[in-house]
Amino acid sequence: MTFHGKVALVTGGTSGIGRETAIQLAQAGAKVVLAGRRTEEGGLVVEEINSNGGEAVFVQTDVTKEDQVKHLIDETLRHFGRLDIAFNNAGIEQLGPVTEFTEADYRKVFDINVLGVFLSQKYEIPAMLKSGGGSIINTSSIVGHVAMPGASIYIASKHAVEGITKTTALELAGQGIRVNAVAPGAIATDMIDRFAGAEGSDNRQWLASQHPMGRLGQSKEIAAAVLYLASDAASFTTGISLPVDGGYLAK
Ligand code: NAD
Repeated sequence: MTFHGKVALVTGGTSGIGRETAIQLAQAGAKVVLAGRRTEEGGLVVEEINSNGGEAVFVQTDVTKEDQVKHLIDETLRHFGRLDIAFNNAGIEQLGPVTEFTEADYRKVFDINVLGVFLSQKYEIPAMLKSGGGSIINTSSIVGHVAMPGASIYIASKHAVEGITKTTALELAGQGIRVNAVAPGAIATDMIDRFAGAEGSDNRQWLASQHPMGRLGQSKEIAAAVLYLASDAASFTTGISLPVDGGYLAK
């Protein structure tokens, strides 16, 4: 798969799935704009890409702030002149029983996971239309498809990502922009450390056992699916949410 001449944007690119996807996109020839809140971590990813012959820039962005998202797209066009691929991946988790969440919990999770995708798409689409089309991939989850107890707000937010993805895909189907989601199972990232505890913990082993393949996934396995959806190999694919989940949703 090659992305020479393409410009890709990755939100939540300073760690985990976003970081790995940014690196794989750059290795495949894309110029990469990395967006996130953490300047130091962002700088390290950019350094890793650029020192391996790729081309990347970091633009500090909180995806819940409209002016910052607009600035991100302006900076993308200023640096690289176009936008072809957008991976809207920034997200946070929140655990707890329904009755113990607060309104602030709800607003925080929905602001990042849903408003963040909404604002990102809003400014990415005009830039992609000017570039002659493109591919948007939003990060959903297996829990965008099914529920599990103990994370109602997060799960509702990922169901909302599914809805935004499908609707945007329909709105843009005739305009050269494909819009899809990737739906990871449990992937070994900082988020899973927070969600299920460190390597070897009972919770983590239980979570792995819930996946028919008997293990957690790796960020590189999600990145590979994102690159497929971003590529011309997926030219007739829009409005889907692709599970990458070791068989979790087949149960
Ligand atoms: P992660 O915590 O390493 O990555 C999330 C990234 O989003 C971080 O870099 C974080 O700083 C960034 N972020 C959070 N709020 C932000 C904001 N307001 N503006 C900009 N960036 C912000 O964890 P990850 O597992 O790599 O998560 C990436 C995505 O994958 C998330 O959307 C998550 O919900 C989703 N996901 C993860 C798993 C898993 O098991 N790890 C499973 C399904 C879906």
